[in-house]
Formats: sequence, C-alpha cells, structure tokens
Amino acid sequence: MKYGRFLYNGEIKHGMVDGDRVIELLGTYLDEPAVPTDRVYRLEDVKWLAPVEPKQVIAIGLNYVDHAKEQNKPLPKEPMMFMVSPSAIIGPGESIRLAKPTHRIDYEAELAVVIGKKAHRVTEAEALDVVFGYTVAIDVSDRDLQARDGQYTRAKSYPTYKPIGPFVATDVNPRNLSIKLTQNGVTKQDGHTSDMVHSVEKIIAAVTEVMTLEPGDVILTGTPAGVGPLHPGDDVAATIEGIGTLQVTVL
Ligand code: MG
Repeated sequence: MKYGRFLYNGEIKHGMVDGDRVIELLGTYLDEPAVPTDRVYRLEDVKWLAPVEPKQVIAIGLNYVDHAKEQNKPLPKEPMMFMVSPSAIIGPGESIRLAKPTHRIDYEAELAVVIGKKAHRVTEAEALDVVFGYTVAIDVSDRDLQARDGQYTRAKSYPTYKPIGPFVATDVNPRNLSIKLTQNGVTKQDGHTSDMVHSVEKIIAAVTEVMTLEPGDVILTGTPAGVGPLHPGDDVAATIEGIGTLQVTVL
C-alpha cells in the first residue's frame, strides 16, 4: 500500500493510494488502524506534499561502497549517523533553493525509512517492526561547508535541502530496490539497495541504541555512487522501485 499527505481545496489531508485514485483517511495514515473515509479523489486533482513532518531526521553517511570510493573516504565500520534539521524538508514538485550558489552543492538520492512506532534500543531482529514504510529522499549537500566544518549539520540543513516523497510505500523490501536519479533527463545515479554497507535493520538498531524515535521520524540511509553538483534551472528526479518518483527543480 502507498500513503501520502496531500492538499485539496486548501486543506491538508492524508490518503491511501488506490490505482489512479486516493482515498482520504480520517486522521493520519500513521494512526493505528488507519480509517478510510468515503471521500475519494483522482490522483491528478490533488497536490502531494512531503509525506511526513518528522520531529527528527537522522541520516547515514557513506553507506554504499562505490559512493565512499568516489568521495575518497574509508568505509565506516558502524553506521555513521548525523542529524539534519526537519525544517529542511520540502515535498514533491517543489524547488531546492541553493543557499550558497558559489559552493559545490550535490544531489544524493536515498531510500528514506519512515518510523511507525516509538522505538528505543531495538534489536536488528525487531527493527523492521518499528518501520511504517519507505519513501524517496534527495539529500542535498553543500560540500564546501562539509569540508570546512568537518561535520554535516550546516551543510545539509538549509531550507529546501531535504526533498522527500511522494509516497510512503509499506510493501517493499528495503534490501532489494533499484534507486536512480536523473538530472535534466540524464541518468546520474543507478544503484541498488542490496549494495548498502549497513542494512536498514542494522541502521535502526544503531540509531535507536542512542535516541528514541517516534512515529513519523525519518532515517536517510545513504546514497549510491554518481553524486554530482546541482545548478539553477535543473530538473531532478529520484526514483525508487515500488515507491515512486520524487521530482524537484533547482532555483
Ligand atoms: Mg546522504
């Protein structure tokens, strides 16, 4: 099943995608159980928003071998986690605004985990039980600031630097998904989640060993090789098998 948040007649609603229609839910899709209403819309008549408004966004760095190589960085032995500001999130169809246009600012297509249950000290064996589903993210990264700061918060937290969406898919296997990114129609990233260094289960165990996650929190799981700079006017589309395509532009 695929879920999302959308705007219809100026109101924010949660819905469940059913073919070319969306069924409005009572409350949010993170409620258990999600309760469908009898209000149904055509997909093209609604504006999709970022599918969640997380309180915490955690990201994992250098989680694909080929990407670590292209960055000339050693592979982390444990999931290398950092926080980014939830205020950086935008939804599908919105625009990334390059805050420091003279810097090198890269796209990174990533599988994003949406947490469904309060989670602290979860084992790898239990990890997928606290997942609600998966969405697509683009981890926009200012390389100049990353190099200058020696850490990632500032480089990755400017407004609009975390596009996510369009949907949260619940029935996908996070170990077996193609992940692609095109820039102006040209394929730049063409990876597969089976090439992750640390699995989603291991990442969730590592993150929740430190902090308590709440429903709606998001973990970005790292990017495959092929990252490159964004330019004003770019049209960027990240696609993950079974989830959908997250399309954004660059200003
Ligand atoms: Mg990243």
